[in-house]
Amino acid sequence: MFQKVLIANRGEIALRVLRACKELGIQTVVVHSTADSDAMHVRLADESVCIGPPPSRESYLNIHQIVAACEITGADAVHPGYGFLSENAKFADILAAHNITFIGPSGDHIRIMGDKIEAKRTAKRLGIPVVPGSDGAISDEKEAKRVAAEIGYPVIIKASAGGGGRGMKVARSEADLEVALQTARSEAGAAFGDDAVYIEKFLEKPRHIELQVFGDGAGRGVHFGERDCSLQRRHQKVWEEANSPALNSEERARIGGICAKAIADLGYSGAGTIEFLYENGEFYFIEMNTRLQVEHPVTEAITGIDLVHEQIRVASGGGLSVRQEDIKFNGHAIECRINAEDPRTFTPSPGTITHFHTPGGLGVRVDSGVYSGYRIPPYYDSLIGKLIVHGRNRVECMMRLRRALDEFVVDGIKTTLPLFRDLVGNPDIANGDYDIHWLEKYLAEDD
Ligand code: ADP
Repeated sequence: MFQKVLIANRGEIALRVLRACKELGIQTVVVHSTADSDAMHVRLADESVCIGPPPSRESYLNIHQIVAACEITGADAVHPGYGFLSENAKFADILAAHNITFIGPSGDHIRIMGDKIEAKRTAKRLGIPVVPGSDGAISDEKEAKRVAAEIGYPVIIKASAGGGGRGMKVARSEADLEVALQTARSEAGAAFGDDAVYIEKFLEKPRHIELQVFGDGAGRGVHFGERDCSLQRRHQKVWEEANSPALNSEERARIGGICAKAIADLGYSGAGTIEFLYENGEFYFIEMNTRLQVEHPVTEAITGIDLVHEQIRVASGGGLSVRQEDIKFNGHAIECRINAEDPRTFTPSPGTITHFHTPGGLGVRVDSGVYSGYRIPPYYDSLIGKLIVHGRNRVECMMRLRRALDEFVVDGIKTTLPLFRDLVGNPDIANGDYDIHWLEKYLAEDD
Protein backbone atom coordinates (compact mmCIF):
# COMPACT_ATOMS: atom_id res chain seq x y z
CA MET A 1 0.00 0.00 0.00
CA PHE A 2 1.11 3.59 -0.56
CA GLN A 3 2.65 5.62 2.28
CA LYS A 4 1.71 9.03 0.95
CA VAL A 5 -0.68 10.12 -1.81
CA LEU A 6 -0.64 13.54 -3.46
CA ILE A 7 -4.06 14.79 -4.52
CA ALA A 8 -3.79 16.86 -7.71
CA ASN A 9 -7.20 18.51 -7.57
CA ARG A 10 -9.39 20.87 -5.56
CA GLY A 11 -12.93 21.28 -4.24
CA GLU A 12 -15.22 18.46 -3.27
CA ILE A 13 -13.27 15.79 -5.16
CA ALA A 14 -10.01 16.63 -3.38
CA LEU A 15 -11.84 16.16 -0.10
CA ARG A 16 -13.46 12.96 -1.34
CA VAL A 17 -10.07 11.42 -2.17
CA LEU A 18 -8.56 12.72 1.07
CA ARG A 19 -11.25 10.92 3.07
CA ALA A 20 -10.52 7.63 1.31
CA CYS A 21 -6.78 7.99 1.97
CA LYS A 22 -7.38 8.69 5.67
CA GLU A 23 -9.55 5.60 5.98
CA LEU A 24 -6.78 3.53 4.43
CA GLY A 25 -4.16 5.00 6.77
CA ILE A 26 -2.35 6.82 3.96
CA GLN A 27 -0.69 10.22 4.50
CA THR A 28 -2.07 12.99 2.29
CA VAL A 29 -0.49 15.87 0.42
CA VAL A 30 -2.60 18.41 -1.41
CA VAL A 31 -1.49 20.98 -3.93
CA HIS A 32 -3.30 24.26 -4.32
CA SER A 33 -3.26 27.59 -6.11
CA THR A 34 -2.97 30.90 -4.24
CA ALA A 35 -6.75 31.28 -4.70
CA ASP A 36 -7.36 28.12 -2.66
CA SER A 37 -5.21 28.73 0.42
CA ASP A 38 -8.36 28.71 2.61
CA ALA A 39 -9.95 25.68 0.96
CA MET A 40 -11.17 22.78 3.07
CA HIS A 41 -8.92 20.22 1.35
CA VAL A 42 -5.91 22.36 2.28
CA ARG A 43 -7.04 22.58 5.91
CA LEU A 44 -7.64 18.85 6.31
CA ALA A 45 -4.59 17.44 4.52
CA ASP A 46 -1.47 16.31 6.37
CA GLU A 47 0.68 18.51 4.12
CA SER A 48 -0.01 21.12 1.47
CA VAL A 49 2.06 22.72 -1.24
CA CYS A 50 1.17 25.96 -3.02
CA ILE A 51 1.94 25.35 -6.70
CA GLY A 52 1.06 28.60 -8.40
CA PRO A 53 -1.29 31.48 -9.13
CA PRO A 54 -5.07 31.08 -9.63
CA PRO A 55 -5.28 30.24 -13.39
CA SER A 56 -5.50 26.43 -13.71
CA ARG A 57 -2.82 26.20 -16.40
CA GLU A 58 -0.33 27.76 -13.99
CA SER A 59 -1.36 25.59 -11.02
CA TYR A 60 -3.66 22.56 -11.23
CA LEU A 61 -2.55 21.84 -14.82
CA ASN A 62 1.12 22.58 -14.20
CA ILE A 63 2.75 19.15 -14.48
CA HIS A 64 6.25 20.33 -13.51
CA GLN A 65 5.05 21.93 -10.30
CA ILE A 66 3.03 18.86 -9.35
CA VAL A 67 5.94 16.49 -9.96
CA ALA A 68 8.18 18.83 -7.94
CA ALA A 69 5.62 18.76 -5.10
CA CYS A 70 5.75 14.95 -5.16
CA GLU A 71 9.53 14.98 -4.93
CA ILE A 72 9.62 17.54 -2.12
CA THR A 73 7.05 15.70 -0.01
CA GLY A 74 8.08 12.16 -0.93
CA ALA A 75 4.62 11.19 -2.23
CA ASP A 76 4.63 7.77 -3.88
CA ALA A 77 1.36 8.14 -5.79
CA VAL A 78 -0.90 10.82 -7.30
CA HIS A 79 -4.68 10.78 -7.42
CA PRO A 80 -5.86 13.16 -10.18
CA GLY A 81 -9.58 13.29 -9.25
CA TYR A 82 -11.69 14.24 -12.31
CA GLY A 83 -11.09 17.06 -14.78
CA PHE A 84 -7.68 18.82 -14.73
CA LEU A 85 -4.95 16.18 -15.44
CA SER A 86 -7.11 13.10 -14.87
CA GLU A 87 -7.20 12.14 -18.57
CA ASN A 88 -3.80 13.47 -19.55
CA ALA A 89 -1.72 10.56 -20.89
CA LYS A 90 1.48 12.62 -20.83
CA PHE A 91 1.00 13.29 -17.11
CA ALA A 92 0.58 9.54 -16.45
CA ASP A 93 3.74 8.83 -18.49
CA ILE A 94 5.80 11.52 -16.72
CA LEU A 95 4.80 10.23 -13.28
CA ALA A 96 5.72 6.69 -14.32
CA ALA A 97 9.12 7.96 -15.49
CA HIS A 98 9.62 9.44 -12.01
CA ASN A 99 8.58 6.20 -10.28
CA ILE A 100 5.44 7.82 -8.95
CA THR A 101 2.23 5.83 -9.35
CA PHE A 102 -0.61 7.48 -11.26
CA ILE A 103 -3.86 6.30 -9.64
CA GLY A 104 -5.58 5.53 -12.91
CA PRO A 105 -5.04 3.52 -16.09
CA SER A 106 -1.88 3.44 -18.22
CA GLY A 107 -0.99 6.37 -20.45
CA ASP A 108 -1.68 4.14 -23.47
CA HIS A 109 -5.23 3.33 -22.38
CA ILE A 110 -5.90 7.02 -21.72
CA ARG A 111 -4.56 7.82 -25.20
CA ILE A 112 -6.76 5.24 -26.98
CA MET A 113 -9.94 6.42 -25.25
CA GLY A 114 -9.05 10.11 -25.68
CA ASP A 115 -9.23 9.78 -29.47
CA LYS A 116 -12.90 9.33 -30.26
CA ILE A 117 -12.41 7.42 -33.50
CA GLU A 118 -9.81 5.10 -31.98
CA ALA A 119 -12.04 4.63 -28.91
CA LYS A 120 -15.01 3.65 -31.06
CA ARG A 121 -12.90 1.25 -33.11
CA THR A 122 -11.54 -0.34 -29.93
CA ALA A 123 -15.02 -0.61 -28.41
CA LYS A 124 -16.29 -2.32 -31.56
CA ARG A 125 -13.36 -4.75 -31.58
CA LEU A 126 -14.08 -5.61 -27.93
CA GLY A 127 -17.71 -6.45 -28.70
CA ILE A 128 -19.28 -3.27 -27.29
CA PRO A 129 -22.28 -2.08 -29.35
CA VAL A 130 -21.50 1.22 -31.11
CA VAL A 131 -23.59 3.78 -33.02
CA PRO A 132 -23.74 2.85 -36.71
CA GLY A 133 -21.55 5.21 -38.72
CA SER A 134 -18.36 5.78 -40.68
CA ASP A 135 -15.45 3.52 -39.88
CA GLY A 136 -13.08 6.35 -38.99
CA ALA A 137 -12.69 9.90 -40.29
CA ILE A 138 -14.44 10.76 -43.54
CA SER A 139 -12.34 12.14 -46.35
CA ASP A 140 -14.82 14.07 -48.50
CA GLU A 141 -18.45 14.87 -49.21
CA LYS A 142 -18.85 11.92 -51.53
CA GLU A 143 -17.88 9.49 -48.79
CA ALA A 144 -20.12 11.33 -46.31
CA LYS A 145 -23.09 10.94 -48.67
CA ARG A 146 -22.40 7.28 -49.19
CA VAL A 147 -22.15 6.53 -45.44
CA ALA A 148 -25.23 8.65 -44.63
CA ALA A 149 -27.29 6.86 -47.27
CA GLU A 150 -26.16 3.52 -45.84
CA ILE A 151 -27.04 4.26 -42.21
CA GLY A 152 -30.05 6.47 -43.04
CA TYR A 153 -30.91 10.06 -42.06
CA PRO A 154 -30.81 11.90 -39.71
CA VAL A 155 -27.04 11.74 -39.14
CA ILE A 156 -24.68 13.64 -36.85
CA ILE A 157 -21.21 14.85 -37.84
CA LYS A 158 -18.77 14.83 -34.93
CA ALA A 159 -15.20 15.99 -34.41
CA SER A 160 -12.62 13.23 -33.86
CA ALA A 161 -10.86 15.41 -31.31
CA GLY A 162 -14.25 16.43 -29.84
CA GLY A 163 -15.13 17.22 -26.28
CA GLY A 164 -17.74 19.20 -24.40
CA GLY A 165 -20.27 18.69 -27.16
CA ARG A 166 -18.47 21.05 -29.57
CA GLY A 167 -18.10 20.54 -33.30
CA MET A 168 -21.28 18.48 -33.72
CA LYS A 169 -23.80 19.07 -36.51
CA VAL A 170 -26.99 17.22 -37.43
CA ALA A 171 -28.07 16.66 -41.05
CA ARG A 172 -31.68 15.58 -41.58
CA SER A 173 -31.39 14.97 -45.33
CA GLU A 174 -28.79 14.86 -48.08
CA ALA A 175 -29.55 18.54 -48.78
CA ASP A 176 -28.27 19.49 -45.29
CA LEU A 177 -25.17 17.34 -45.48
CA GLU A 178 -22.76 19.64 -47.32
CA VAL A 179 -23.32 22.61 -44.99
CA ALA A 180 -23.29 20.41 -41.86
CA LEU A 181 -20.02 18.84 -42.95
CA GLN A 182 -18.34 22.17 -43.64
CA THR A 183 -19.56 23.77 -40.41
CA ALA A 184 -18.54 20.79 -38.28
CA ARG A 185 -15.11 20.76 -39.94
CA SER A 186 -14.44 24.45 -39.43
CA GLU A 187 -15.73 24.38 -35.81
CA ALA A 188 -13.56 21.35 -35.07
CA GLY A 189 -10.52 23.01 -36.66
CA ALA A 190 -11.04 26.19 -34.65
CA ALA A 191 -11.78 24.45 -31.34
CA PHE A 192 -9.33 21.52 -31.43
CA GLY A 193 -6.78 22.38 -34.13
CA ASP A 194 -7.85 19.19 -35.92
CA ASP A 195 -10.63 19.22 -38.52
CA ALA A 196 -11.07 15.43 -38.78
CA VAL A 197 -14.76 14.48 -38.49
CA TYR A 198 -16.82 11.30 -38.59
CA ILE A 199 -20.47 10.44 -39.15
CA GLU A 200 -22.95 8.64 -36.93
CA LYS A 201 -26.63 7.85 -37.00
CA PHE A 202 -28.41 10.60 -35.04
CA LEU A 203 -30.59 9.19 -32.29
CA GLU A 204 -33.71 11.29 -31.72
CA LYS A 205 -34.70 10.58 -28.12
CA PRO A 206 -31.99 8.60 -26.39
CA ARG A 207 -31.19 8.33 -22.71
CA HIS A 208 -27.61 8.69 -21.47
CA ILE A 209 -26.75 5.50 -19.63
CA GLU A 210 -23.20 4.76 -18.49
CA LEU A 211 -21.60 1.67 -17.01
CA GLN A 212 -19.16 1.90 -14.11
CA VAL A 213 -16.36 -0.57 -14.73
CA PHE A 214 -13.11 -1.53 -13.05
CA GLY A 215 -10.12 -3.51 -14.22
CA ASP A 216 -7.39 -4.94 -12.02
CA GLY A 217 -4.76 -4.57 -14.76
CA ALA A 218 -4.17 -8.32 -14.67
CA GLY A 219 -7.01 -9.44 -16.91
CA ARG A 220 -9.94 -9.20 -14.52
CA GLY A 221 -12.83 -6.82 -15.10
CA VAL A 222 -16.05 -6.12 -13.20
CA HIS A 223 -18.99 -3.76 -13.59
CA PHE A 224 -20.83 -1.85 -10.87
CA GLY A 225 -24.06 -1.36 -12.81
CA GLU A 226 -25.21 1.74 -14.60
CA ARG A 227 -26.04 5.37 -13.94
CA ASP A 228 -28.70 7.28 -15.83
CA CYS A 229 -27.42 10.79 -16.58
CA SER A 230 -30.03 11.85 -19.12
CA LEU A 231 -30.94 15.08 -17.33
CA GLN A 232 -28.42 17.42 -18.94
CA ARG A 233 -28.06 21.01 -19.96
CA ARG A 234 -25.67 21.81 -22.81
CA HIS A 235 -24.29 18.28 -22.45
CA GLN A 236 -23.52 18.93 -18.77
CA LYS A 237 -25.02 16.42 -16.37
CA VAL A 238 -27.31 17.95 -13.74
CA TRP A 239 -29.01 14.98 -12.01
CA GLU A 240 -27.83 11.37 -12.03
CA GLU A 241 -29.41 8.20 -10.75
CA ALA A 242 -28.69 4.54 -10.20
CA ASN A 243 -30.22 2.30 -11.26
CA SER A 244 -31.65 3.74 -14.48
CA PRO A 245 -35.45 3.92 -14.36
CA ALA A 246 -35.35 2.54 -17.93
CA LEU A 247 -33.43 -0.71 -17.40
CA ASN A 248 -34.41 -4.06 -15.96
CA SER A 249 -31.98 -6.47 -14.29
CA GLU A 250 -31.57 -8.66 -17.41
CA GLU A 251 -30.56 -5.67 -19.53
CA ARG A 252 -28.19 -4.53 -16.75
CA ALA A 253 -26.56 -7.94 -16.50
CA ARG A 254 -26.24 -8.19 -20.30
CA ILE A 255 -24.62 -4.81 -20.98
CA GLY A 256 -22.65 -5.00 -17.73
CA GLY A 257 -21.28 -8.40 -18.72
CA ILE A 258 -20.22 -7.09 -22.14
CA CYS A 259 -18.44 -4.10 -20.56
CA ALA A 260 -16.71 -6.12 -17.83
CA LYS A 261 -15.40 -8.59 -20.42
CA ALA A 262 -14.17 -5.74 -22.65
CA ILE A 263 -12.27 -4.20 -19.73
CA ALA A 264 -10.72 -7.56 -18.88
CA ASP A 265 -9.69 -8.16 -22.52
CA LEU A 266 -8.19 -4.68 -22.71
CA GLY A 267 -6.07 -5.38 -19.62
CA TYR A 268 -7.39 -2.12 -18.23
CA SER A 269 -6.42 -0.98 -14.75
CA GLY A 270 -8.57 1.09 -12.39
CA ALA A 271 -11.91 2.87 -12.73
CA GLY A 272 -13.57 3.65 -16.03
CA THR A 273 -16.96 4.67 -17.33
CA ILE A 274 -18.35 3.41 -20.60
CA GLU A 275 -20.94 5.87 -21.87
CA PHE A 276 -23.86 4.89 -24.05
CA LEU A 277 -26.86 6.42 -25.67
CA TYR A 278 -29.83 4.10 -25.12
CA GLU A 279 -32.88 4.05 -27.35
CA ASN A 280 -35.57 1.42 -28.00
CA GLY A 281 -33.81 -1.18 -25.89
CA GLU A 282 -30.46 -0.80 -27.70
CA PHE A 283 -27.15 0.52 -26.37
CA TYR A 284 -24.85 2.65 -28.51
CA PHE A 285 -21.30 3.38 -27.23
CA ILE A 286 -20.31 7.05 -27.41
CA GLU A 287 -17.16 7.30 -25.32
CA MET A 288 -15.18 5.96 -22.38
CA ASN A 289 -13.92 8.13 -19.52
CA THR A 290 -10.73 6.75 -18.02
CA ARG A 291 -11.17 8.24 -14.54
CA LEU A 292 -13.50 8.62 -11.57
CA GLN A 293 -16.74 10.45 -12.46
CA VAL A 294 -18.44 13.28 -10.58
CA GLU A 295 -21.50 11.05 -10.22
CA HIS A 296 -19.70 8.00 -8.78
CA PRO A 297 -21.44 8.34 -5.35
CA VAL A 298 -24.79 7.06 -6.68
CA THR A 299 -23.02 3.81 -7.55
CA GLU A 300 -21.40 3.74 -4.10
CA ALA A 301 -24.82 4.27 -2.51
CA ILE A 302 -26.45 1.27 -4.17
CA THR A 303 -23.44 -1.08 -3.98
CA GLY A 304 -22.03 -0.03 -0.59
CA ILE A 305 -18.52 -0.09 -2.10
CA ASP A 306 -16.07 2.81 -1.84
CA LEU A 307 -14.83 3.27 -5.41
CA VAL A 308 -11.87 5.46 -4.40
CA HIS A 309 -10.67 2.72 -2.04
CA GLU A 310 -10.84 0.34 -5.01
CA GLN A 311 -8.87 2.74 -7.22
CA ILE A 312 -6.13 3.04 -4.60
CA ARG A 313 -6.03 -0.72 -3.98
CA VAL A 314 -5.76 -1.53 -7.68
CA ALA A 315 -3.08 1.12 -8.31
CA SER A 316 -0.99 -0.15 -5.41
CA GLY A 317 -1.09 -3.69 -6.81
CA GLY A 318 -3.54 -5.04 -4.23
CA GLY A 319 -6.21 -5.94 -6.81
CA LEU A 320 -9.96 -5.49 -6.51
CA SER A 321 -11.61 -6.28 -3.17
CA VAL A 322 -14.68 -7.71 -4.88
CA ARG A 323 -15.62 -10.26 -7.50
CA GLN A 324 -18.58 -9.68 -9.83
CA GLU A 325 -20.81 -11.95 -7.73
CA ASP A 326 -20.08 -9.85 -4.60
CA ILE A 327 -21.49 -6.70 -6.21
CA LYS A 328 -25.18 -6.34 -5.34
CA PHE A 329 -27.51 -3.49 -6.25
CA ASN A 330 -29.47 -2.29 -3.31
CA GLY A 331 -32.26 0.30 -3.60
CA HIS A 332 -32.05 3.55 -5.51
CA ALA A 333 -29.85 6.65 -5.39
CA ILE A 334 -30.06 10.14 -6.92
CA GLU A 335 -27.39 12.84 -7.07
CA CYS A 336 -28.08 16.55 -7.57
CA ARG A 337 -25.16 18.76 -8.59
CA ILE A 338 -25.27 21.94 -6.54
CA ASN A 339 -23.63 24.63 -8.66
CA ALA A 340 -22.95 28.26 -7.79
CA GLU A 341 -25.10 29.34 -10.73
CA ASP A 342 -28.38 31.02 -11.48
CA PRO A 343 -30.91 28.13 -11.44
CA ARG A 344 -32.51 29.22 -14.74
CA THR A 345 -29.79 30.83 -16.85
CA PHE A 346 -26.90 28.85 -15.32
CA THR A 347 -24.66 31.92 -15.32
CA PRO A 348 -21.95 31.54 -12.66
CA SER A 349 -22.59 33.19 -9.30
CA PRO A 350 -19.29 33.38 -7.44
CA GLY A 351 -19.10 35.27 -4.14
CA THR A 352 -19.13 34.62 -0.42
CA ILE A 353 -21.35 31.95 1.10
CA THR A 354 -22.79 33.69 4.15
CA HIS A 355 -24.56 30.62 5.49
CA PHE A 356 -24.19 26.94 4.59
CA HIS A 357 -26.34 24.30 6.22
CA THR A 358 -26.45 20.76 4.88
CA PRO A 359 -29.21 18.19 5.31
CA GLY A 360 -28.57 14.95 7.19
CA GLY A 361 -30.35 11.83 8.33
CA LEU A 362 -30.60 8.29 7.01
CA GLY A 363 -29.63 7.89 3.37
CA VAL A 364 -28.35 11.45 2.89
CA ARG A 365 -24.78 12.26 1.83
CA VAL A 366 -23.36 15.67 1.00
CA ASP A 367 -19.95 15.86 -0.69
CA SER A 368 -18.81 19.45 -0.59
CA GLY A 369 -15.70 21.45 0.16
CA VAL A 370 -17.41 24.73 1.10
CA TYR A 371 -18.51 26.22 4.43
CA SER A 372 -20.16 29.33 5.93
CA GLY A 373 -17.92 32.31 5.19
CA TYR A 374 -16.19 30.60 2.23
CA ARG A 375 -15.50 32.84 -0.74
CA ILE A 376 -15.93 30.99 -4.05
CA PRO A 377 -13.04 31.94 -6.33
CA PRO A 378 -14.15 32.88 -9.86
CA TYR A 379 -11.46 30.84 -11.63
CA TYR A 380 -12.81 27.30 -11.51
CA ASP A 381 -15.79 25.04 -12.10
CA SER A 382 -19.01 26.19 -10.41
CA LEU A 383 -19.75 22.87 -8.65
CA ILE A 384 -19.86 23.57 -4.91
CA GLY A 385 -21.31 20.30 -3.73
CA LYS A 386 -23.32 17.20 -4.45
CA LEU A 387 -26.37 15.95 -2.63
CA ILE A 388 -26.70 12.17 -2.84
CA VAL A 389 -29.80 10.47 -1.48
CA HIS A 390 -30.44 6.76 -1.12
CA GLY A 391 -33.69 4.91 -0.49
CA ARG A 392 -34.91 1.31 -0.61
CA ASN A 393 -36.67 2.09 -3.87
CA ARG A 394 -37.07 5.07 -6.21
CA VAL A 395 -40.23 6.35 -4.51
CA GLU A 396 -38.58 6.40 -1.08
CA CYS A 397 -35.48 8.00 -2.62
CA MET A 398 -37.57 10.81 -4.20
CA MET A 399 -39.42 11.50 -0.93
CA ARG A 400 -36.13 11.66 0.94
CA LEU A 401 -34.64 13.90 -1.75
CA ARG A 402 -37.55 16.32 -1.46
CA ARG A 403 -37.08 16.67 2.30
CA ALA A 404 -33.26 16.91 2.02
CA LEU A 405 -33.63 19.71 -0.53
CA ASP A 406 -35.96 21.51 1.88
CA GLU A 407 -33.29 21.41 4.59
CA PHE A 408 -30.40 22.57 2.40
CA VAL A 409 -29.51 26.24 2.93
CA VAL A 410 -26.91 28.12 0.90
CA ASP A 411 -27.09 31.90 1.43
CA GLY A 412 -25.11 34.70 -0.18
CA ILE A 413 -24.91 33.28 -3.72
CA LYS A 414 -27.29 31.80 -6.26
CA THR A 415 -27.34 28.02 -6.59
CA THR A 416 -29.12 25.34 -8.62
CA LEU A 417 -31.06 24.17 -5.49
CA PRO A 418 -34.36 25.82 -6.60
CA LEU A 419 -34.20 23.92 -9.91
CA PHE A 420 -33.99 20.58 -8.04
CA ARG A 421 -36.91 21.59 -5.79
CA ASP A 422 -38.96 22.08 -8.99
CA LEU A 423 -37.75 18.88 -10.61
CA VAL A 424 -38.51 16.67 -7.63
CA GLY A 425 -42.20 17.61 -7.92
CA ASN A 426 -42.45 17.11 -11.69
CA PRO A 427 -44.60 14.17 -12.88
CA ASP A 428 -42.20 13.15 -15.69
CA ILE A 429 -39.31 13.04 -13.25
CA ALA A 430 -41.45 11.16 -10.72
CA ASN A 431 -42.17 8.58 -13.42
CA GLY A 432 -38.54 8.44 -14.60
CA ASP A 433 -39.90 9.41 -18.01
CA TYR A 434 -37.23 11.61 -19.60
CA ASP A 435 -34.58 11.57 -22.33
CA ILE A 436 -31.44 13.66 -22.96
CA HIS A 437 -33.51 16.58 -24.35
CA TRP A 438 -36.07 16.71 -21.53
CA LEU A 439 -34.34 19.27 -19.30
CA GLU A 440 -33.54 21.73 -22.10
CA LYS A 441 -37.18 21.61 -23.26
CA TYR A 442 -38.42 22.05 -19.69
CA LEU A 443 -36.17 25.09 -19.16
CA ALA A 444 -37.22 26.62 -22.51
CA GLU A 445 -40.95 26.17 -21.77
CA ASP A 446 -40.56 27.76 -18.39
CA ASP A 447 -39.07 31.00 -19.74
P1 ADP B 1 -18.30 15.08 -26.26
O1 ADP B 1 -17.05 14.31 -26.06
O2 ADP B 1 -18.10 16.33 -27.07
O3 ADP B 1 -19.06 15.33 -24.98
P2 ADP B 1 -20.04 12.84 -26.99
O4 ADP B 1 -19.75 11.92 -28.10
O5 ADP B 1 -19.86 12.34 -25.60
O6 ADP B 1 -19.22 14.21 -27.21
O7 ADP B 1 -21.51 13.38 -27.14
C1 ADP B 1 -22.01 14.40 -26.32
C2 ADP B 1 -23.52 14.42 -26.42
O8 ADP B 1 -23.94 14.69 -27.76
C3 ADP B 1 -24.21 13.13 -26.04
O9 ADP B 1 -24.38 13.00 -24.64
C4 ADP B 1 -25.53 13.32 -26.77
O10 ADP B 1 -26.34 14.23 -26.05
C5 ADP B 1 -25.12 13.98 -28.07
N1 ADP B 1 -24.83 12.96 -29.10
C6 ADP B 1 -23.63 12.44 -29.42
N2 ADP B 1 -23.73 11.52 -30.39
C7 ADP B 1 -25.04 11.44 -30.72
C8 ADP B 1 -25.81 10.65 -31.65
N3 ADP B 1 -25.23 9.76 -32.48
N4 ADP B 1 -27.15 10.84 -31.68
C9 ADP B 1 -27.74 11.75 -30.86
N5 ADP B 1 -27.10 12.52 -29.97
C10 ADP B 1 -25.76 12.37 -29.89
